Amino acid sequence: KIDNLDAQLHQVDPNYDFNYDAQFKVIVIGDSGVGKSCIVQRLTQDMFKDDHQITIGVEFGAFVMKIEGKIIKLMIWDTAGQEQFRSITKLFYKNSDAAIIVYDVSRRESFDDVQTWQNEIENNTDESVLQYLVGNRVDLEDSREISHQEGSSLAKDKRFGNFFETSAKTGQNIRELFIQVTKHLYLKNKDRLD
Ligand code: GDP
Repeated sequence: KIDNLDAQLHQVDPNYDFNYDAQFKVIVIGDSGVGKSCIVQRLTQDMFKDDHQITIGVEFGAFVMKIEGKIIKLMIWDTAGQEQFRSITKLFYKNSDAAIIVYDVSRRESFDDVQTWQNEIENNTDESVLQYLVGNRVDLEDSREISHQEGSSLAKDKRFGNFFETSAKTGQNIRELFIQVTKHLYLKNKDRLD
């Protein structure tokens, strides 16, 4: 069903005011250093910088997508370093429609922590939040510690909406991930949009 939806993601200025049919908030969480900021940066600026400096606070990306004639606005929230101290504010989680939990395929510890992040979501949001699991840094094939199979099984066992393997460095699957999340949210909320 999702694959039949035709849609493209366009970046917009978060401050630019326009009419839309639905707005969704997507948060990106996971252990520090797994590549969350780089994923958002790859999506928003189509670039990758090895020396990307985190700023403490929250970083945003805003996108618009047209699906079956409906204008969907997507706000992407990046923890921007808050997670280092496990001090993500309630405000960060508030009203999120989807949560992307990222781990690093070359660091098992970040995979083991997925459950902790899932608990965070469950404690801070209502249960209807769509969850996607993402294994990042797949360009580092030689130092891989988590197989595709292992990630995919966890996603199934823990009732994630879907599973992606990405690389912020090469751009692999980054747009696909966010397009899929948006389509999924659209289908989930379609009834109240008609
Ligand atoms: P965050 O703390 O989760 O936001 O992680 P960052 O986005 O700051 O990335 C942490 C480090 O991993 C940085 O040095 C990035 O250059 C590197 N990194 C992020 N994504 C990738 C990737 O897909 N491949 C590789 N090889 N390195 C990555």
